[in-house]
Amino acid sequence: MPSFDRLDLLQEVLAILPVGVWIMDETGKIVYGNPAGQQMWAGARRAGLEEFGEHKGWWVATGKPIEPEEWAAERAIRSGEVSIDEEVEIECSDGTRKIVLNSAMPIRGADGKITGAIIVNHDITERKRFEEQLRGLAEHDPLTGAYNRRFLYEFLETEIQRARRYGTPLSLVMFDIDHFKQINDRYGHQAGDRMLAGLAEAVREELRSVDRLARYGGEEFLVLAPGTDRAQAVVLAERLRVRIGSSRFDSFPPITCSFGVCQFQDENTDALIRRVDDLLYKAKESGRNCIVVE
Ligand code: GH3
Ligand code: MG
Ligand code: MG
Repeated sequence: MPSFDRLDLLQEVLAILPVGVWIMDETGKIVYGNPAGQQMWAGARRAGLEEFGEHKGWWVATGKPIEPEEWAAERAIRSGEVSIDEEVEIECSDGTRKIVLNSAMPIRGADGKITGAIIVNHDITERKRFEEQLRGLAEHDPLTGAYNRRFLYEFLETEIQRARRYGTPLSLVMFDIDHFKQINDRYGHQAGDRMLAGLAEAVREELRSVDRLARYGGEEFLVLAPGTDRAQAVVLAERLRVRIGSSRFDSFPPITCSFGVCQFQDENTDALIRRVDDLLYKAKESGRNCIVVE
């Protein structure tokens, strides 16, 4: 068994630890940073507290810049506060961005006076990206990239609550491809799939960032348009109808869609969807490639 004196052992441990460890003196000057910490912050070897602003950081939850006096290390030194796992996004000296769990605690002398702080950093950038990917997969339909039905219901609940609370309008546009069975029969299911993907892409280009496109069923889609009243939703549906009718997806002949449009009227989610579905059905009965609004 190798023998270490205590300092050697500490050095050894800090050198191989996969977490960043920093020690600051009572003026906020960094007096030590282990290799993992230095690598994490890419070059931020000797930044004092007053220089923290240079290594820009944002609070992950709000995206607001972290003021130098908001850093956990500063609070540890100034008021002895212990902070554990504050999620911050940092911009390192080399321009890269990382998401870091930042903890800090004061170091006290024998007399109890604060003589500095110890800061521990965990780089969770990869884990966060992976979580975002998983969330994306869980919320979207892989063929069309539209939101899936489960997410649609969640989002619709939220938007209904918002519309109730603030009295803002909320509209739905539901549409379904006309005679899509014939398209599958004529060109094959794979061609049909490509058309569905192309259609969703074209529709998304016509939407505002607050609107959501969801795949409600096989070739039936729903647009949730918050802050949009009935008349504006009709304008949107007409724009989609014209856009789809004039597009060529994979150089197949143009397709058309039928549309149902309605504005939320203080009903529950199921009743609202049923209403717009009925309107779409009426559009099919009225000869297709048209909009029925209530
Ligand atoms: P209508 O004008 O009345 O809507 O006629 P339609 O033929 O489109 O009838 P309907 O909407 O009932 O049929 C939907 C068809 O869409 C049935 C199915 O073959 C096709 N479909 C559903 N999902 C998919 C899919 O993911 N890929 C492909 N290629 N086809 C699909
Ligand atoms: Mg159809
Ligand atoms: Mg259908």
